[in-house]
Amino acid sequence: MQRVISVLAISMIFSVAFLIGCAVKSTPQIGEKFMSTSKILFNIETDKQLDVSKMKDWDIIVDPDAIPSEKYAGEEFQRLFKEATGMMLPINSKAQGESNHVYIGKATSEKLGEEELMVIVNKDSLIITGGRPRGTLYGVYQFFEDAFGVRFLTFDHTYIPKSTDVKIPVGEFRYNPPFLFRWSYYAENSKEPEFAARLRVNTVTHAEKLGGVTPQNLINHSFHWLLPFDKYGAEHPEYYALFEGKRDTETGGGGPQLCVTNKDVIRIVAENAISYLDQHPNMRNISVSQANTARYCHCDECEAINKREGTPMGSQLAFVNAVAKLIEQKHPDVKVGTLAYWYTRKAPKTIKPRHNVQIQLCSIECCTLHPIDDPTCEKNRAFCQDMEEWSKICNDIWIWNYNTNFRYYDLPFPNLRVIGPNVRYFLRNNAKGVFMQANGNGTSGELSDLRNYLISRMLWNPNFDDNTNLNN
Ligand SMILES: [Zn+2]
Ligand SMILES: [Zn+2]
Repeated sequence: MQRVISVLAISMIFSVAFLIGCAVKSTPQIGEKFMSTSKILFNIETDKQLDVSKMKDWDIIVDPDAIPSEKYAGEEFQRLFKEATGMMLPINSKAQGESNHVYIGKATSEKLGEEELMVIVNKDSLIITGGRPRGTLYGVYQFFEDAFGVRFLTFDHTYIPKSTDVKIPVGEFRYNPPFLFRWSYYAENSKEPEFAARLRVNTVTHAEKLGGVTPQNLINHSFHWLLPFDKYGAEHPEYYALFEGKRDTETGGGGPQLCVTNKDVIRIVAENAISYLDQHPNMRNISVSQANTARYCHCDECEAINKREGTPMGSQLAFVNAVAKLIEQKHPDVKVGTLAYWYTRKAPKTIKPRHNVQIQLCSIECCTLHPIDDPTCEKNRAFCQDMEEWSKICNDIWIWNYNTNFRYYDLPFPNLRVIGPNVRYFLRNNAKGVFMQANGNGTSGELSDLRNYLISRMLWNPNFDDNTNLNN
């Protein structure tokens, strides 16, 4: 036991030393910078401004036909405005006269994306609106961050500067987040979905009042349910991977893997995927992905493709493309996602993902001390080579990134300074969704509140000034 403690202590000292080593590279900035960095809205200079101190007799207008998340957006506006200014504005369903109203979720002539938000500031009215189902609610949170310097730091602590001396530039402001799927995988979010919505994490709750979840599935291991070994294994061992000279029966990690060149396997997997999509008509993607084991199929047909393509991803991607072609006939708007993970991380030489295929690239081998695009880090250089190869042949890449020590959640994990650069690197290379895996099954991991805040802000706005905000 004592030995374990001393090993833990040494690890902690080293990790802290790493953190300090990284921290001295940047110049801490505090105070007013906290208010002014990373604004999405109101980044213009103008003499025309809405003077918040004159809003005392205004009201909040929420249309009676508003959806639950828009009604909740009205309540959130009322709550946050009261906290920030001391003014309690009533919520009404109809505006009396033209001026002195805050319109929440007002209909626009344009079609906005499901999370796209629009803020229109006039001297005598304010409109916060957005696409359905989450644009308006997210617009309210963005408004308070940028107009008042509000920070949603933890579920039980929101930083709200108290002031009526706030002037907001008149103009029309819009934002549409670049990542469709944003999952900061902390129990701090899943246990507190209202807080997750404030951070604009769109993957943890079906509650309509919070705008629900994105209709994108996490691209994750799925062979075990698309072709269950329990159901087919006894009668059709040839559906499963040939490994060490025989058809595999190992079920660990969701195995066995499939023989991905078997025509019946392609057909049945497609049928089972289509049946899932028939039952879940709102979903915009489905995962057709390898099990979490390296015991992939070594039969002659599979290996011939792998050899030709220079990676076991050769036969895997040929399979996913074939399944995606069948799925498209029934569900033309649905994407088929697959993991590029472990032995399939490297892109094939000639086979490209079909137009309806998404690649979920996993960075499990990466070093977390250096930014992923640090050319001096050998491990990360290898990942970047793979990512850049993928980004040449696929414009719908997703990322599975790792943000904790999975053995000891409480040990320092020296990645705070690389989260920002990493997210920006992913975006530059065609990433459309990011799963930041962390200690999702418990709260209070090492700096988990801070990490969750930082990750969520970065995924919402990759231009977020991570260094300044961290120092604050
Ligand atoms: Zn095979
Ligand atoms: Zn490194």
